[in-house]
Amino acid sequence: MQDSLYYSDYRWPELKTLAEQDAIVILPVGQTEEHGPHLPVGCDAMISLDTAERVARAAQKEMPVLVMPAIWAGYSGRGLKKWPGTITLPTDVVIATVEHIVVSLVDSGFTKVLVMNSHGHHEGILRVAARNIADRCSVTLVVSHIWRMAEAIVARVRTSEEGGCNHAGEYETALLLATGKRVDQTQAVDEPVRPASRYVGGDLMTRHHAKVFWSTWGHTSSRTGTYGCPTRATAAQGQAIMDATVLEYLELLREMRQSKENRR
Ligand SMILES: [Zn+2]
Repeated sequence: MQDSLYYSDYRWPELKTLAEQDAIVILPVGQTEEHGPHLPVGCDAMISLDTAERVARAAQKEMPVLVMPAIWAGYSGRGLKKWPGTITLPTDVVIATVEHIVVSLVDSGFTKVLVMNSHGHHEGILRVAARNIADRCSVTLVVSHIWRMAEAIVARVRTSEEGGCNHAGEYETALLLATGKRVDQTQAVDEPVRPASRYVGGDLMTRHHAKVFWSTWGHTSSRTGTYGCPTRATAAQGQAIMDATVLEYLELLREMRQSKENRR
């Protein structure tokens, strides 16, 4: 049994042993950007790291797992720079960062990496990174988006209509309330997103039904930097979402543990 969850706590001989034991390395990917007047700008990095820690703690009884420091800066579209607080890196920098981190892990002997992303604008970008990595080395690499793992539970516990669980909306606010972050619900404002086309889903939780990728930021607008219904969020709801997300990830880790990729 490991005495720490964190990759950074270990010395190199210990990491060598963990790599030989086929430890799964979790790379939390977040972002720092405005999240309405009620949530801290570190929201996404917090969700990624909190989820990774809980998943690793639950999995550790069954398999060796390590949590990397969370990537805190990523890509945000221009629209989110209307409000202070947003840090944005070019898409190719984010791709190269993830690519070089994973390739370095493989060079250190690790063969299984799970990317846990919480930021919507990273969806396509991380797929490109995964393609580049697969062309450079042999690794069991899984790119996951945390909200996707929560779709079923959110459908059960949400009280907002479709459009209420986008950026800084009901889902993210519930998670931050549940994990005791510096949230000010007296400042929360509901600004639900109404899709302008039937080909596009109304929010993060239903977007997998979208038939096209329409640059949604171009036809949605917000006064406060909120895209959804944060006033509907409660800590109890957030706890239920987090618990279900951890169980879903535990199943995924078990599959990753068993998987044997063809090594070239
Ligand atoms: Zn967010």
